[in-house]
Amino acid sequence: MHSIRSVLDDTTLTGTTVTVAGWVRTFRNDRFIALNDGSTVRNLQCVIDQEQVDEATRARLTTSAAVRCTGTIVESKGGGQRVEMQVSEVVVLGDSDGEKYPIQPKKHSLEFLRENAHLRFRTSTFSAVFRIRHQVSFGIHAYFDQHGYNYFHSPIITASDAEGAGEMFRVTALADTKGTDPAEDFFGRVTNLTVSGQLEAELAATALGKVYTFGPTFRAENSNTARHLAEFWMIEPEAAFMDIQGNMDLAEDLCKHLIARVLEKSMDDLQFLDGRLADEEKQKPQQQRSEMGLIDRLKFVLENPFERITYDQAIDILLRSKPYQKKQFQFPVEWGIDLQSEHERYLVEKHFNKPVIVTGYPAQIKAFYMRTNGPDDLGYSDKGPTVAAMDVLFPGIGEIIGGSQREERLDMLEARMAEMGVPTEQLWWYLDTRRFGTVPHAGFGLGLERFVQFVTGMGNIRDVIPFPRTPGNAEF
Ligand code: ATP
Ligand code: MN
Repeated sequence: MHSIRSVLDDTTLTGTTVTVAGWVRTFRNDRFIALNDGSTVRNLQCVIDQEQVDEATRARLTTSAAVRCTGTIVESKGGGQRVEMQVSEVVVLGDSDGEKYPIQPKKHSLEFLRENAHLRFRTSTFSAVFRIRHQVSFGIHAYFDQHGYNYFHSPIITASDAEGAGEMFRVTALADTKGTDPAEDFFGRVTNLTVSGQLEAELAATALGKVYTFGPTFRAENSNTARHLAEFWMIEPEAAFMDIQGNMDLAEDLCKHLIARVLEKSMDDLQFLDGRLADEEKQKPQQQRSEMGLIDRLKFVLENPFERITYDQAIDILLRSKPYQKKQFQFPVEWGIDLQSEHERYLVEKHFNKPVIVTGYPAQIKAFYMRTNGPDDLGYSDKGPTVAAMDVLFPGIGEIIGGSQREERLDMLEARMAEMGVPTEQLWWYLDTRRFGTVPHAGFGLGLERFVQFVTGMGNIRDVIPFPRTPGNAEF
């Protein structure tokens, strides 16, 4: 059996007889099957000779029926495709009541398709998105493998609740936890689903040198936004002997490697999504439309260096910006604030018009493990204490990566933990890395879904994960 992708692309197959199998997208004029097998966004036109295929079989060629076709690959007379199949035999493998099938050959809204998430992979849009998600995932492993990083599996059930990355989901074996002592529970303590594998990755990096995690991550944050999920996938590289500069270089290089890979491997899916996005843009008022199409945007990001600025510079730019002067920002701008989405988007989309890496955030708004900047460090400020944090901001999405150089000096780390009220006893194992052969090290967390959103142009994060988990939503 051949994949439809190979039949469409492999010119040596013209004139030969092949077998393909897939699902009927449409069946027109009792003659033309548009067949799709998921190997490509493109359909194979299978042309039926009415004398060879009886009427009863033709009646079963309904939208979404599974069929196997054998026939000769010939140059197509119609426009739109290079080749088509002159069918000699068609076998219906799985019948389908075309009338009842929820996904009709017309444009459905993304909301409707989310309610039919079990079938949405059969659409061109979603099959394209999930093939690209595969390419990005595979590319992540390939990139880190090529660069000497070990794939490290951090635990999904953790007892460390000190990381402070977000609200957590409790893990328990008790039917009812009310009034019970956590000591009676399965692990003899309170446990949660992981919000980040970083602390464990740091242990591994200070032994293996370079590691990365890539796994599901859970945050019970009740934010119903287009860029938050309760269950998402995060990639967290961590490397010993790497500083904040190296960390930025790694983040930029990884993003570019992944974009180059998708441009190389998934051009037909990108072309489809580019067209889809262009249609969507046409619905918007002129001034809200983006100037570049999807593919042009990917090439632009690939070919241009990311802008690197400090938090101080970001605040200066925002204070001098038109929306600030005209009081159009909803949230205040002053040194010490956490940048809000509207501020990030101004920097990326209006001011620089490309990805931006911001370093040197105020210590008070960042996690305890980030390294305190001294006067000679990047992002040092005379306005207040800063840490070696870095956020990578992307057009249309905002924060896609959050990372830092870690505080490797035990006394500084303990002081910062005390300041932020992080209990040191529970994290004795983490602090041991600073006691026994501590070294400068750094890493970051990349949100897979946010990256896939950028590459596919999908506006809502629920449309780039197979089965989205969001507040009030865990069907399928
Ligand atoms: P945000 O401020 O956007 O909520 P964060 O600062 O809480 O993100 P980090 O803790 O820095 O996020 O996590 C690293 C990366 O993981 C983020 O840059 C983002 O790409 C991704 N990420 C974080 N939270 C979520 C979520 N709820 N759903 C999907 N991706 C997420
Ligand atoms: Mn962050």
